[in-house]
Amino acid sequence: MKDQNWQDYVAPQDCSWSWKNISQINATFKNAYTDNLWLNSSQPYTVAGGYKWLMPPSPKVQWRYVCWNSLNLPRTSFIYWASRLQRLLTRDRIIRMGFGQDDTCFLCAAAPETHGHLFYNCDLSTKCIRVLHQRLRIIFPPQAFDHWYASGRGRSKLQSKFVCACFVSLTYETWHPRNIARLHAQIIRPEFLVTKLVNSIKQRWSKRNHHILKQRDQVWIDSVGN
Ligand SMILES: [Zn+2]
Repeated sequence: MKDQNWQDYVAPQDCSWSWKNISQINATFKNAYTDNLWLNSSQPYTVAGGYKWLMPPSPKVQWRYVCWNSLNLPRTSFIYWASRLQRLLTRDRIIRMGFGQDDTCFLCAAAPETHGHLFYNCDLSTKCIRVLHQRLRIIFPPQAFDHWYASGRGRSKLQSKFVCACFVSLTYETWHPRNIARLHAQIIRPEFLVTKLVNSIKQRWSKRNHHILKQRDQVWIDSVGN
């Protein structure tokens, strides 16, 4: 590239694979320049600006507030995010990718293992959702969770965060025993699983919010059964 205009540069045929790819990125980004001006403005190029320009606009989803709730553990947020985008390696997805032939659910062996089945309709997940509804004393169909969160009536922001963290954690805690069942064929008790996740959210709640808790919230959190 020495002594050449970077916008006119074309990688030679006999260069390495990696250099060809770098050159391809160069060819893509030169479309965002007018002469040497990034997006025809006086602002210099930034990585964030380049990322936004390169990525297509995507709709903002309601569940982003549930997914990135400050009470969530990062690992639970990640698994919830991947599950909402249907990106976890469930058996049906593995088959669609061209690997494997059996899509039977590892947990119940009664239906194909899809995202919808595993997190909403499998025997373990339906039992866990029922137990969690009892502990939190709320009822809504699992698929209506976003609607429940958006309605926001009759509860404080902290209570909403707590409930969301429980259901996000439930997605993680369903995915985790699914992998254990795949490897070790162990039986998971829903009550044990829900108690574990509620206690972990309570601990996180008390660490983060003890100095700003209103009495109403403290009474509510104390009332959430173990
Ligand atoms: Zn199942």
